[in-house]
Formats: sequence, C-alpha cells, structure tokens
Amino acid sequence: MNIIFLGPPGAGKGTQAQRICDALNIPQISTGDILRKAIKEGTPTGLKAKEYVEAGKLVPDEVLVEIIRDRLAMDDCKQGYILDGFPRTVPQAEALEKIANIDCVVELAVDDENLIKRLSGRRVCLNCGATYHVSLLGDRTTCEKCGEPLIQRKDDAPETVLNRLTVYHEQTAPLIAFYESRNLLKRFDGMKGMEEVYQSIMETLGAKA
Ligand code: AMP
Repeated sequence: MNIIFLGPPGAGKGTQAQRICDALNIPQISTGDILRKAIKEGTPTGLKAKEYVEAGKLVPDEVLVEIIRDRLAMDDCKQGYILDGFPRTVPQAEALEKIANIDCVVELAVDDENLIKRLSGRRVCLNCGATYHVSLLGDRTTCEKCGEPLIQRKDDAPETVLNRLTVYHEQTAPLIAFYESRNLLKRFDGMKGMEEVYQSIMETLGAKA
C-alpha cells in the first residue's frame, strides 16, 4: 500500500509512520530526514535546502519532487511505502499523482496550542531520528535506542515553530480538501494517546488492504 501521512509539524506523523512501517514491513520516506541528512553531509541538495529548513520555510517544490522521484524508483518501494512530510504543497501533490498511485492519506489533526508545546519540548537523536519530549526525559541526554546525544532541532526553536505552523496552514492544509475530493482522506484525532491513534490507523489500513 502507498500511504501519505498528512498533518502539521508535531502531530506525531513520524512516530506513527515509523511504527506502521515496521508492522507492514514497508519503508518510511521522511523528506525532513532526507533533507537533514543532506544538510549534515553538505551535498548539493543539502546546501540548497539548509537556509529554508533552518528558517522553518518550505524547500522549493522542484527540489522535493526530484528527491521523491529518485526515492520511489528504488526497489524497496515496490511493496509500498509511507510518505512522511511529502507532499506539502498542491504542486507537490500534483507532481506525485504523475509518478505514484496513492491508496490512502492518513491525516493527523492536533490543535496549534498542543503543537507548540510538543515541538518546543521535542528532543531528537540526529543519528537514528528517535524523538523524545523533555517532560519525560528526566536527566537523560542520550538516545535510548542508539546512545547518541539528543539535541533540539534548530527549527524547533519557539520563533521558528510559529513560522512552521503558519506555513502549514497556508501551504499544506489545502491538501486536506485536495485528497478529500479524491476520496482518499482518512482523518484521525492526533490528540488521543499514541497507542489509540496507532490502533485506529491500523484498523483503517487493514480494512483498505
Ligand atoms: P519535517 O521533519 O517533516 O518537519 O521537515 C523539516 C523541514 O524540512 C521543513 O520545515 C521544511 O523546511 C523541509 N521539508 C520537509 N519536507 C518538505 C516538503 N515536502 N516540501 C518542502 N520542504 C520540506
């Protein structure tokens, strides 16, 4: 199954996508992770993307469409995949329609007040991508999974978080109507507990499989 995860930053897309990919044995394609890796490695794509990512702005569509076209052509995508963080604009969604058949769009809805709390307290492992919240970390400063140090992403700084939410409402939220009109959208309440959200998504995907 080819699935899109749609929702504002901090809605839990990455966490849920990772778990569902493990359960379905398909790859999780996170454009944010791909861009952060490219920036860290200083590749030409990374150099183009850096200033946008750090300011909480969207990287130009053509850069993303090329990344996704290359990634979806890889062998491990033949049995399906989850797109986490792509598409984020209507032109990206239109470009995707030309290269992929999407079976389901999972929308995770969370209100802005909660997103701000989640994002500003988020800590991530730059090595394996695991995410944590400061309220649950105690004295811990390293990743439980791989032992590497946890950091606050530059774009999780409070002023950038507000920017990212504005960008989401203006440029990404129109995709809700876009996929609704194609009968692909399934909406989930991302304010519920992680386990409950996971079970409802799995049930819906099972019904569609
Ligand atoms: P994320 O980890 O999904 O929150 O993405 C982090 C940042 O990467 C975003 O704030 C954007 O700057 C950039 N980014 C990720 N995916 C896209 C996309 N589909 N289109 C444009 N920019 C993106």
